[in-house]
Amino acid sequence: MVESLVYWSCFEIFFHVIFLFIMAKKTRPKYIFVVGGVLSGVGKGVTTASIGAIMKAKGFKTTALKADPYINVDAGTMNPIEHGEVFVTDDKDETDQDMGNYERFLDIDLTSMNYMTTGRVYQTVINNERSMKYKGRCVQVVPHIPEEIIGRIKRAQKHHDADMVIIEIGGTVGEYENILFLEAIRELKMANPDDVAVVLVSYLPVPAHLGEMKTKPTQHASRLLNQAGLQADMIVARGRMELDKPRREKLATFCGVQKENCISAPDVPSIYEIPSRFEDQNVGNKLLKILDMSPRKTDLAPWHAFVKKIHNSTKEVTIAVVGKYFGTGSFTLADSYISVIESVKHAAWFNNVKPILEWVDSEEFEKDPKKLLELKKYDGIIVPGGFGTRGIEGIISAIQFAREKKIPYLGLCYGMQLATIEFARHVLGKKGAHTVEVNDKTPHPIIIVNPFQAKNIAEEKYGGTMRLGAYDCDLIAGTQTRKAYGTAHISERHRHRYEFNNEYREEMDSAGLKVVGVNPESDLVEIVELENHPFFVGTQFHPEFKSRPMRPHPLFREFVKAAKGEK
Ligand code: GLN
Repeated sequence: MVESLVYWSCFEIFFHVIFLFIMAKKTRPKYIFVVGGVLSGVGKGVTTASIGAIMKAKGFKTTALKADPYINVDAGTMNPIEHGEVFVTDDKDETDQDMGNYERFLDIDLTSMNYMTTGRVYQTVINNERSMKYKGRCVQVVPHIPEEIIGRIKRAQKHHDADMVIIEIGGTVGEYENILFLEAIRELKMANPDDVAVVLVSYLPVPAHLGEMKTKPTQHASRLLNQAGLQADMIVARGRMELDKPRREKLATFCGVQKENCISAPDVPSIYEIPSRFEDQNVGNKLLKILDMSPRKTDLAPWHAFVKKIHNSTKEVTIAVVGKYFGTGSFTLADSYISVIESVKHAAWFNNVKPILEWVDSEEFEKDPKKLLELKKYDGIIVPGGFGTRGIEGIISAIQFAREKKIPYLGLCYGMQLATIEFARHVLGKKGAHTVEVNDKTPHPIIIVNPFQAKNIAEEKYGGTMRLGAYDCDLIAGTQTRKAYGTAHISERHRHRYEFNNEYREEMDSAGLKVVGVNPESDLVEIVELENHPFFVGTQFHPEFKSRPMRPHPLFREFVKAAKGEK
């Protein structure tokens, strides 16, 4: 009896220990850092997002962070033509466009905890110093800055209760401003050697006169990483071509990365193919091995089916994006409006059509109004968000054309405001109707600035002071918009300073431009919709921030449906 008791308690203890061991292994969060080599803008963001998608498909609770090396506290004060889109989170943060990729690939909502800049890190450390949080010690760049970076990563992990945290460091290794982020990785890895993996996304050029893929720049990038005390565990070899055997061997030898952990990442027609392409090379399980974990199955079936749908959508739908002169050419446009572009794509593939997007400079219509007729060739017109006075009259003429010629129209933020101005001028007969952003002496201020915002403008408080983030909106029954959403209450993300003037609401509504969405607390107009038109909707918010590859945004979905002629 005693013997069997002893036997059982030993047995129990044994299993208890095993159980605790498994739990300890299971619950220790893992950190995958994605850093760049050679060039920026070669797909670090999509790599981060794709690794995230794979980990999620393995059943891990996954989140992603972006660390940007500049001093700006957020991306809101940076020129989108140079820096790319400002991506807004529900909780009012103005972040980097890569955050949009993470949300889209992982199909999760991120928060301000998922984003940091050097400015934000320093701001916290300095504020902590001012409030005696360091208890009289000397506050230094090292260790206090990396400590704050690590603290932010860990707080985000806790907040999202994540098993896997993927962190992208902006820019490339070897840049002076990156050093403290790399130091943070080094320290985190030193404390948790099995829980940190480093992925170097590097570019392998194929110089035209050689016609051969070159590994040398990546070798240099790998050395720069070594100088920071880090060794890449995996290299994602971006380039025009596949990574072949000789070059894989070179990378392995000169960069000290296992041959099988050199991943081929050639250009592909759609970024949404990347999770499948990575999985073909077993990227997920290779990372798990680096992180001292057992392999796991990946359920990528929805991604495979989605990619198939993309390839099968061959009938074209052509959408014009009309805006002011977009700066340095179409290269930067794609980045400035990335969420709009992706939203159109998601909606098009859902409708089994292939999206063709064209950029139309509204100033052309100001120079030569006959050019407006060229808009006839488009199946739909979008006016995206914007600021300032340039090209505005051209945009208003384009909106009038879309309204009168019954071309499906979707106005996003400024695109909604200008649609109401166009309607006031040409349907309500209010000559000179305008937004006070452009003309503060207009006789008919259709778009106004509220007293709160007026104070911000007067005091030059521009950073983080717009109407930002998620706001509720109630939809009016019996409208196209309500039908599209399939619900009466929605929440959407905002980023604007000006608002529709409620004094014009009734007049506009009864003349046919209906107010169909209103914020319940402030009574601000959030959505307008035109009667007797195949599709003419303007939103004060930015629906593009909430579209997901396999769950297109309802308004984009219905807009494309109308554009392909099914209304
Ligand atoms: N300029 C307008 C405003 O500030 C619209 C902003 C936007 O389109 N995001 O209200």
